[in-house]
Amino acid sequence: MSDMAALASHVQADALGLAAPLLEIDDVTVQYKTDQYLVTAAHQVSFKVYPSDRYVLFGPSGCGKSTLLKAVGGYVRPTQGTIRLKGREILEPGPDRMMVFQEFDQLLPWKTVRQNIEFALEASGRLKGPQVVERAAHYLDKVGLSAFQDSYPHMLSGGMKQRVSIARGMAMEPDVLLMDEPFAALDVQARRKMQDELLRLWDDTHFTVMFVTHSIEEAIRIGTRILLLSPHPGQVKAELNSVPRDDEQAESRARLEARINEMLFTFEDAAT
Ligand code: ADP
Ligand code: MG
Repeated sequence: MSDMAALASHVQADALGLAAPLLEIDDVTVQYKTDQYLVTAAHQVSFKVYPSDRYVLFGPSGCGKSTLLKAVGGYVRPTQGTIRLKGREILEPGPDRMMVFQEFDQLLPWKTVRQNIEFALEASGRLKGPQVVERAAHYLDKVGLSAFQDSYPHMLSGGMKQRVSIARGMAMEPDVLLMDEPFAALDVQARRKMQDELLRLWDDTHFTVMFVTHSIEEAIRIGTRILLLSPHPGQVKAELNSVPRDDEQAESRARLEARINEMLFTFEDAAT
């Protein structure tokens, strides 16, 4: 299924009332309370994520992207509103939602690459013995790290560590993979390569991913849909369909980028 076909099938299914959303974020407000202050990180945010979406949360730093992703992960409870996965309210973290973070130190340093993935699979109780070994090997191969399965994290580059984290997340075969600026700490070239790899992995299995970024270019490259959040406190400014990745669409991509840029400036005007 191409990007375009995926998009068209949503729109069609939506119109017919057939597609069940995988995730429903309904009127979610998240506040952080400390002794001294109350911060509203996200304000009355609603959106839906459908199966096989590459759903991007995009907005300036501090607009609540990570907060919303953590709320979907079950690590942060909404102050108001509900988040449902396959119709069931999310109340806590679970193996049906795996997170990949920006930091390179998400792996257990005393375990090898392979053991890091196997450990996660065993801990979830989803698989046993040979199934664990087989599943880990399968996903290590998918991210091109079979040759490094016995290496320890400190022996790997930042990009390779992120690949292991992605393999670990994908190996759990979650309903949705949650990625919080996973490539932000990489240099431009490595970042580009990882973006391509993620898209290649998606072409393979069409997994559902929620991806946080504050880079317009990355949002357009990665996303099938882009939720544009206004600056602090994060509110939905717009929800946009991205543009297919093929070369003929370069002009449409540039147009979308210009449009998003324009919207960003509109926020700034509103804030001053
Ligand atoms: P983003 O990921 O878009 O940069 P965040 O979700 O990290 O934004 O943060 C949104 C707002 O909530 C910011 O003002 C931030 O300072 C605040 N915030 C985030 N986490 C906490 C926390 N644990 N305690 C208090 N305030 C927080
Ligand atoms: Mg963040």
